[in-house]
Amino acid sequence: MDLEEKIFAWYKQLHANPELGFCENQTAKLCASELRQLGYTVKENIAKTGIIAELTKGSAEKVIMLRADMDALPISENTGLPYASTNGAMHACGHDSHMAMILGASTILKDVDFNGTLRIAIQPCEESEDENGMTGAGLMIQQGVLQNVNACIGLHVDNMIPVGSMYINKDQVVNASSNPFYIEVMGKSSHGGATPHLGVDAIVISAEIITALQSIVSRKVSPHDTAVLSIGTINGGEAQNIISQKVVMKGVIRTLNVDAQKIILENAKSMVESIAKMHGGSATFNIVTNLPTNVNDKDLAQMAINIAQDMDLVVNEEYTSMGAEDFSLYSQQVPTLFAKLGASINPDNPHDVAPLHHPNAQLNKDAFILGAKFFVQMTTKLLS
Ligand SMILES: [Zn+2]
Ligand SMILES: [Zn+2]
Repeated sequence: MDLEEKIFAWYKQLHANPELGFCENQTAKLCASELRQLGYTVKENIAKTGIIAELTKGSAEKVIMLRADMDALPISENTGLPYASTNGAMHACGHDSHMAMILGASTILKDVDFNGTLRIAIQPCEESEDENGMTGAGLMIQQGVLQNVNACIGLHVDNMIPVGSMYINKDQVVNASSNPFYIEVMGKSSHGGATPHLGVDAIVISAEIITALQSIVSRKVSPHDTAVLSIGTINGGEAQNIISQKVVMKGVIRTLNVDAQKIILENAKSMVESIAKMHGGSATFNIVTNLPTNVNDKDLAQMAINIAQDMDLVVNEEYTSMGAEDFSLYSQQVPTLFAKLGASINPDNPHDVAPLHHPNAQLNKDAFILGAKFFVQMTTKLLS
């Protein structure tokens, strides 16, 4: 079996057996055993189910980290592929391909000369967070994954970009900051028809909060900055004739810079609390998790662009996504490079496909060897 076939075989095996965040036990076992067979020193159970594998050559103290993520999503797969998942979860974000590409790169790199330490970090739970609001990257960092790291490289497949293309942002933010939040509004029950004046209506308060929050992006954030505040769920009330005592709302804030993120968080908290107070109730504004913007190091980005062009890939140097990625936590600590790798299955109209996170999402396997080779080129260049 040549390497391209081997990468596809790993991909199919991982794709058929997806596991959700922090439950990636079989996934981790597979990756750890393959890396051990290749001669890497492997540590398991980092950040619950994560893996750190290392290979050192030469005497240089430099450490280069390649990162993959391994969690799937709670989606029932509908692709009809022969290796489709049947367990109710699905690798609909392509993290299976990230692992397969990293295993491919690790295979090549064991036989290639370099000077320093290659660290392979396969992290759990990129898509969600634990009860303390920690994603996999946050926990991996807490457990020392970035110790002595000089540069960290990550790729994400994008199934709406043609195969043979790569999006490498030269000097801007690659992914938005993200703050999922929830708001709890507390009022006081009373009879909705007979004695509304004796209650405090959490629904009326919530209506005002929703309207006020929408004014933050339009009136508090600079028109030059990109920002989004969305409320996605609202739940409250017991019956048509009871003044509602409690309302819970959930939403998300996304921005492309830290100033806008700070302005929105501060204003949202004070608006929520003061509107509730004004009506005689109370409210809390709670952040579920705090992901900063994901920013490429300029030198690494230029190196990546040169390597991609040498590989005859078509490079887009401007692309920024409002999607969030917990790779951003690494980017706040060490120089990082995060790029998007084209993997559309539709060569004529790359955009005309089911997007990632969709039950019909598919990837083009021709992209995988390109991703593996890109990881190898970056590593050998940085450890030359
Ligand atoms: Zn995703
Ligand atoms: Zn993803």
